[in-house]
Amino acid sequence: LLEVTNLHKSFSAPAGELHILQGLAFELAEGEFLAVVGESGSGKSTMLQILGTLERPDRGEMLLDGEAIESLSSTRQAHLRNEKIGFVYQAHHLIPELTALENVALPLLVQGLPEKDAQLRASALLARLGLAARESHVPARLSGGEAQRVAVARALVTSPRLLLADEPTGNLDEHTAQEVFVLLQALCREENAAVVMVTHSMALARSCDRILYLHDGRLIQR
Ligand code: ATP
Ligand code: MG
Repeated sequence: LLEVTNLHKSFSAPAGELHILQGLAFELAEGEFLAVVGESGSGKSTMLQILGTLERPDRGEMLLDGEAIESLSSTRQAHLRNEKIGFVYQAHHLIPELTALENVALPLLVQGLPEKDAQLRASALLARLGLAARESHVPARLSGGEAQRVAVARALVTSPRLLLADEPTGNLDEHTAQEVFVLLQALCREENAAVVMVTHSMALARSCDRILYLHDGRLIQR
């Protein structure tokens, strides 16, 4: 599904250039669930931002379904994100004024789906995540775990081929984190979405198909 070669990224800092990513390379198979772990500041979020075409690498190639996505125009990248990539972050980033159902249906409306169809699909997904009774709640009226599950539903509602998850359970207590993770994993399997999940939890990482460590600007398998 995804083939990454020789990815580099530097940031300029007062003390000089920070060479954060120094030639990342890995492949991700269709439907594979990959965990990425590494120290704080090692560049995990930077890597996900680049994989999601939200930031450009200085060098390197990223083939998604054989298409070199790093060199597309920003407009084409935005289109690609809508079609093929889902995002989940440590904070839910739901729209506070919209209900759970409206938040989840929104990406489908953006894609041009009729409102009725969008709501049906969103509703089915929320039910799958155990949130049927929370559809009409705005985010402020959801628990942390519920809000993260809504964010998972929103990320997967368009059936993306690739889900990029940056510490998706990082704000939750251990028990709730495990619960949300298990649902995320099951849903990705059902939807056949491949996942790159950054996590600080070795327990969660061990439940993934494969673990890569980001260390000294490179990804290594141990
Ligand atoms: P954490 O586990 O704490 O989330 P991380 O592995 O996700 O850490 P990144 O957020 O990718 O780390 O940051 C990697 C390094 O790059 C940090 O030293 C950070 O200060 C630096 N950095 C990230 N974004 C920028 C930016 N836009 N400009 C300058 N430096 C940046
Ligand atoms: Mg980070």
